[in-house]
Amino acid sequence: MSPATNDPAAAPRRRVRCPACAAETAYDPGNPWRPFCSRRCRELDFGAWASERYRVAAPDPEPGDGDPAAPTASRGA
Ligand SMILES: [Zn+2]
Repeated sequence: MSPATNDPAAAPRRRVRCPACAAETAYDPGNPWRPFCSRRCRELDFGAWASERYRVAAPDPEPGDGDPAAPTASRGA
């Protein structure tokens, strides 16, 4: 990602790469699916994002190493 610059040599119409299919597309009000190239790509990416978010919202219920049911052999007084 590069920061927005006011380069006079740059074309007035910004072009970006579609995050879904990497196709070059226009980033302007004329493109309702920006920064994607099409509605299909936008929905495709949103689906991936939603599933990723769902995975994060549901972490694995693994207790880890601290198992309280395990007998402590170190304590033998
Ligand atoms: Zn695309």
